[in-house]
Order: sequence, then structure tokens, then C-alpha cells
Amino acid sequence: MNFIKMYKILELEPSFRKKQVEKAIFGLAINDWDVVTTLPKTLKEKLKKECPFKDTSKDIQKELIKIEENVVKARLNFTNDLVETVLMRYKSRNTVCVSSQVGCPLGCSFCLTGQNGFKRNLNSFEIIEQILFFKRYLKKYKENVTNVVFMGMGEPFLNYNAVVKAIKMINSKDGFNISNRKISVSTIGLIPKILRFTKDCPQCNLAFSLHAPNNKLRSILIPANKKHPLKKVLSVLKKYQIATNRSLMIEYIMLKGVNDSLKDAEELSHLLKSNLKSIFVVNLIKYNETGKYESSTFDQIRKFKNILLRNKINVVERYRLGDSINAACGQLTNKNFLHIMGKN
Ligand code: SAH
Ligand code: SF4
Repeated sequence: MNFIKMYKILELEPSFRKKQVEKAIFGLAINDWDVVTTLPKTLKEKLKKECPFKDTSKDIQKELIKIEENVVKARLNFTNDLVETVLMRYKSRNTVCVSSQVGCPLGCSFCLTGQNGFKRNLNSFEIIEQILFFKRYLKKYKENVTNVVFMGMGEPFLNYNAVVKAIKMINSKDGFNISNRKISVSTIGLIPKILRFTKDCPQCNLAFSLHAPNNKLRSILIPANKKHPLKKVLSVLKKYQIATNRSLMIEYIMLKGVNDSLKDAEELSHLLKSNLKSIFVVNLIKYNETGKYESSTFDQIRKFKNILLRNKINVVERYRLGDSINAACGQLTNKNFLHIMGKN
């Protein structure tokens, strides 16, 4: 769908037409202009001609794969840039993990997306299209998208304006109508953008990808840490906590022999307790092996977790869905795309 063209056409119409169309497309996930009975015939014909539902219904659909019971991955084709997006179906919610960039320029050593380089930023409509795609898919099961996480390909804060614009569209009562509290943005920690996000989206959830208990190790794993040193990042995250009173998610992938020792757990506890307000939860994430590192053993993760608990830190273990189809976080890349058609 060419949303840019669509909005240009709607600009010439009274504003309630825009609302009607947004309700139909984003709220009801229609994929045929004919079903929008509220529109006058001339406008409908124009939209049909200029903005056909070609992309999602034909081109993209065939890129859908579903292998694991609760996870569906789709590869969407945006003007020849392939973008991956993942649906995770839980009992009480359906979460779409969206990409914000084609690739990622930050090159974190553990992340497959980062290792494969960067092509371009996505625009807000391309971000929205990923959610819309799964909204249409879920309609078949009489279900809806309930949550959105910006944890797919790319660093959302390197594409800040498009991401915030997309968030506003996700919130819109006339559209998806998903509240900010059901939207999470994950960042590697870009200081000025955390400050802006605190002002622009105080009700959204923020996840910080920490992955190391000290500045030195973090700079080895995450090149961006050199420009955004850990203590400074933590100090703006504390400002976020104070301003929003929202719990912060701290993401920590468990890398065998790299950041998972019991000493690391003590150091991590101290780092967080002395630099943040106590409203945060540490997510210990099982590393999806992408070549360079090994994931920590379950036993080690348990021991690490116990130290955090003993230090009175809220902690959860997370096993990312989608591992077997390379749909888990950090595994999104257009290479190795398992092309299994007709399985949905
Ligand atoms: N650029 C943002 C958002 C995308 S990555 C960020 O880095 O936060 C989403 C999450 O997946 C991040 O916490 C990231 O560190 C993590 N991740 C990256 N590679 C991973 C891997 N191979 N296994 C598990 N998690 C990974
Ligand atoms: Fe980019 Fe996030 Fe991957 Fe780092 S972990 S390379 S910031 S997508």
C-alpha cells in the first residue's frame, strides 16, 4: 500500500474522510477498498486506482513462514529492501516485533543484524505496514495485535523521528488503538535520544540492552558504548525513571565465559543498584547463538540469577521464541531466510 499517496489524496478531502479511511485500514485491517461503504464512489475509485492493496495481499503473503507453534516470521519487500518482522502468539496477547531499519550500522559483536551491515532507515509507514501485515493475518483467527516491540532489525533511536511517528499511529484511536503501555522500544543506549524519548513517549516501555557489568567489557561487545559510555547512559536512564515513574527493562544476554561469571553477577548488581532507581527488571536472555559466542548453560544462568535475587534485584529469565526459525532477536537478517511457502 502506498500510504504516502493515500494521505496526499486524503488531504484534499474533509478531515473526517481521513478518519474513516484510517479506521478501515488500521482499525479493521481491510484489504479491499470496496468494503469501505462509507466513502463516496469517486473517492473510492481514485483510491482503488492509485493505492491498490497489491503489496500485502499478493507480494508479501507468499513470504510468510510459520514453523514454531507460536511464532510466525514474515519477510516484507519494501522497494526491494527485505525486512523481517515476527509475530509471537502468547495465550493472552499477540506481540509483533518490528524492524526499524534495514540492517543496523552499530555492529554489536553478538548480533547477526549488526554483523551484516546497514542499508537504510525505514519510514514510519514501512514500520506500520509490519503491524498491519500481522493484523490482517490474525483476522483469520479472529484475533488482533495487542502489543508491539521495537526489537527487530535495527536501532530504533537511530531512526528516531520515524519511530515516534509510527508510535503515534499505533496509538491512534482511529487506527490500531494500541496504548503506549503496550509498546516497548529497545535501545542500545543513545544518550540524546533517551532524553527525547522521555519527553515524547513517557508512557511507552523502554528496554535498555546492557549486556555487560562494566564499561570495559561493554565497549568490547558494543562499539557504540565508546561514544555513549555506560555511566552516562545509566544517568539518563535514571532521569527517564524519575520523569516517567515507569519500570525500565534491562536486557542482558548470557554469553558463556564472557559476561556470565558469578563475579559478573555481583558487579552487575552493584552497577544497577548504585546508578538506577529501584524500578527496573533485569531480563536474563538466553543467547541465540549466531557464530561468535556460546550461550551460557542453564545451570550458570540459574546461579547468576540467584545472585541477583540475593541482591534484591527483580529478575526474569527469558527464552526468546523463534529460535528455530532464525526469528529470534539478533537473528534477523535477510541471509539464511528459510523460505517455506504454504505452511501458514
Ligand atoms: N538495536 C536495539 C533493538 C534491536 S535488538 C537493541 O539492541 O536494543 C533487540 C534485542 O536483542 C537487544 O537486546 C539485543 O541486544 C538482543 N540480541 C541481539 N542479538 C542477540 C542474540 N543473538 N541472541 C539474543 N538476543 C540478542
Ligand atoms: Fe544494532 Fe541492536 Fe544489533 Fe546492536 S544489538 S547491532 S544496536 S540491532
